[in-house]
Parts: sequence; structure tokens; C-alpha cells
Amino acid sequence: MNLCHVLVVEDDAPVRNLITSTLRANGYRYTTALNGESAVMETASANPDIMLLDLGLPDIDGTEVIRRVRGWSNLPIIVISARSEDEDKIDALDAGADDYITKPFSVNELLARLRVAQRRLALVHAGSTQESVFMNGQLTIDYAAGCAYLAGEELKLTPIEYKLLVLLSQNVGKVLTHKFITRSVWGSSWENDISSLRVFMATLRRKLQPGPESPRYILTHVGVGYRMQRIDA
Ligand code: CA
Repeated sequence: MNLCHVLVVEDDAPVRNLITSTLRANGYRYTTALNGESAVMETASANPDIMLLDLGLPDIDGTEVIRRVRGWSNLPIIVISARSEDEDKIDALDAGADDYITKPFSVNELLARLRVAQRRLALVHAGSTQESVFMNGQLTIDYAAGCAYLAGEELKLTPIEYKLLVLLSQNVGKVLTHKFITRSVWGSSWENDISSLRVFMATLRRKLQPGPESPRYILTHVGVGYRMQRIDA
């Protein structure tokens, strides 16, 4: 039995029914909200573990829901967007959403995104995001010492590569937008920074994934940003 409680915010009945029947079949608990105002209210009163949030809502838009909820809650938020809402999806991630799925999505995709959010939740509850040593698969980062290791070997990283790696690791499971990353690392987000980011990500990734069989620690979300994924040890 999966006791995870999901708040489903979706005004479109067929999509909402697909989501709730998937959740029911997989042992999740859920609450539904049909607009943005009730989404904010239900987050406060029903205290869900995860929010699935449609961006196009009849009253306030999804990004505004995220801004309000982020004032007091850190719950994982997975945004559901239509293809035509690419910009909105990026704004939503910048406002503090964790992840996104694009309509039309498959049931398996939805369940996979929920599992990622649940693992992130487990880490937050375990307090391990505050630990001084981060471990993921073969990767170890000693935040206090400022060093990173792959399979016990110290990685030779430039200061910017190290900063990027730390930022991704501290948000493991979460999609970080180009803007969020460049602001965190360079303090600005000009076009130039975003092209530099691509270059630094490529060199960092070569060091983390030296061979084709190496696990993919860093995933690219084309046009959006990057995510570090959990690798099973
Ligand atoms: Ca909608």
C-alpha cells in the first residue's frame, strides 16, 4: 500500500479522471482541486505529499499557485503542461516546481515522475539533503572538503564544474532551468551564460560519465535545463 497523498489540480475532467484512476489503481491517496484558488486552499488544509498541477487553470494560472504555495510549503510540485505552454513550463520551474510532464502523457510516465518525487520526498524527510557528504551511485561529494569522487577516485573539476555539480546534487531529482543554474553559478542569466553553461555541462558530464556504459548522472531537458537523477547503487 502506497500511502503517498497526491493533490491533483486539473480543471479538464477527462485528464483528471485518467490521473485519479491511475492513482487509485496504484494505491495512492488523492484529493482533487478544479482551480488555482482551491489548489492553494487544499495544500494548506489537506496537507498533501505531492502536487500534480495543470498550468492552464480557469482562475489564477498554475505558476501563481506555485508562488503562493512556495511561501510556506516545500512539497514536490509536478507541473502538467500542454506543448503550447513551453514558456509557462519554464516559468513554473523557475517559480519552484520540481518537475513537469507534457500532455498527452502516458500512465507509465506519470507513475515514473511520481516515483522520482517520492524519492526526493524521502530524502528531505531523512534530512539527507543537509548532510555534509552526498552519495549517488559511484559519485561522492564531500561538501565540507570541496571534493568530488567517482568510484573512489578524486574528480579533477574546475571551480565552475564543481559549483554546477554541487548545485545539481543539492537538487537531485529536480529539473533546474538554465536561468536558475546560471543565476546560481554566475549571478546572471544572459544568453552568453547559457551557452557557457552548455560547455561546462559537457565537460562535467564527460568527467562523470567517462564511458558509454557509465550511468547518466546528469540528464538534459532540451530547451529547459538539467537534472541529476538518482542512480541505484
Ligand atoms: Ca487546464
